[in-house]
Amino acid sequence: MRLLVIGCGGVATVAIHKCCQNPLFTEICIASRTKSKCDALAEKLAPSTKAVITTAKVDADSFESLTELMNSYKPHTVLNVALPYQDLTIMDACLACGANYVDTANYEAEDTDDPEWRAIYEKRCKEKGFTAYFDYSWQWAYQDKFKEAGLTALLGTGFDPGVTSVFTAYALKHYFDEIHYIDILDCNGGDHGYPFATNFNPEINLREVSANGSYWEDGHWVETEPMEIKREYNFAGVGMKDMYLLHHEEIESLAKNIPNVKRIRFFMTFGQSYLTHMNCLQNVGMLSTVPIEFEGHQIVPIKFLKALLPDPASLGPRTVGKTNIGCIFRGIKDGKERNIYIYNVCDHQECYKETGAQAVSYTTGVPAMIGTAMVASGTWKGAGVFNVEEFDPDPYMEALNKDGLPWVVDEAPVLVD
Ligand code: NDP
Repeated sequence: MRLLVIGCGGVATVAIHKCCQNPLFTEICIASRTKSKCDALAEKLAPSTKAVITTAKVDADSFESLTELMNSYKPHTVLNVALPYQDLTIMDACLACGANYVDTANYEAEDTDDPEWRAIYEKRCKEKGFTAYFDYSWQWAYQDKFKEAGLTALLGTGFDPGVTSVFTAYALKHYFDEIHYIDILDCNGGDHGYPFATNFNPEINLREVSANGSYWEDGHWVETEPMEIKREYNFAGVGMKDMYLLHHEEIESLAKNIPNVKRIRFFMTFGQSYLTHMNCLQNVGMLSTVPIEFEGHQIVPIKFLKALLPDPASLGPRTVGKTNIGCIFRGIKDGKERNIYIYNVCDHQECYKETGAQAVSYTTGVPAMIGTAMVASGTWKGAGVFNVEEFDPDPYMEALNKDGLPWVVDEAPVLVD
């Protein structure tokens, strides 16, 4: 099976590593903006895989650049692990060239001042009640196009979204008649030793974290100030951590796809140092995406900040500790109340030894490979645009155990109030 991977950052590195270990992928093309990174990775992986690896330069913001590459390589499936800004151009190119599409993050506009985008965004904020810059409406709008083309688009197969959504489908299939409450808990107990760094793309990460929080309750969104809701939780493998309620993209798709759900919340852990740095950067305008004039150049503050911060791909060797990501479900089975917690614990240094990347890239890259394998093998089949919770979770859950992200089911979890 011929696979095209677009992007060659932290997540892509792990996903490609794992694809090289899976005999399903016999030919892999690594294509990204900076071809030298693709070449370096191909050189590193080639001696230990049977897959034929090639590399290419591509501008994923350009439909022409993408279709030129896809028409010559003719991939069966395209794994998009570039940035959410490129989702729609890559989906368009897949439709034009007859390839299936897989990604790990929903579409986000790069230029949030574009008046055309802004008008649609403001209408959506009013209608739906949450103000995040990213949402599924753009990609769900491709449903008929993928259906007519007989192609599959699988959205959001990272850890969260991705594994957390598969955990939900698995819980519903095996443990509940109805799930009423879902709390998704994302804990990173890792320490990289820098005063401030982000574990994945800084631009995407800081925009997500500095935005308003929100959760889904009784059929509508409830929005909060950034970091307004704080809880403490004692995570297996990590210990006690502060966690904060954030808006997160899988809430939107789970609210649509899980019948009878009453509330869905997402919490992420942050240390005080991270929050203090982030607040300060926000207060001085460094998180802004609006270009400013500086000594005769136009610069975008958050892009400039990205250039100053450590490259997330370089954190691998220095990050120690564990992540714990999972979901607490409350619902009913056979008329009785039931609570379960499904989670994975992942060790930063173990991930680094295996792939050269830390656990945040690892926990995203492994499910990116698994989702791609589900589509490429036809295990998950269908024409149209799908979120991962819409398919049978069992083969995916099995693959998680086999491919490096084993999970645990705790049938008596401590709940979050
Ligand atoms: P990185 O910034 O490390 O990597 C992004 C890669 O995309 C880089 O190789 C970059 O090239 C390339 N790229 C960017 N723009 C273009 C373009 N126009 N054309 C071609 N290539 C381009 O990001 P991460 O690996 O940390 O994240 C990758 C994706 O994974 C993101 O969409 C992120 O949101 C998502 N993610 C999902 C998670 C989940 O759990 N679902 C968790 C974490 C991340 P260059 O090297 O030249 O910069």
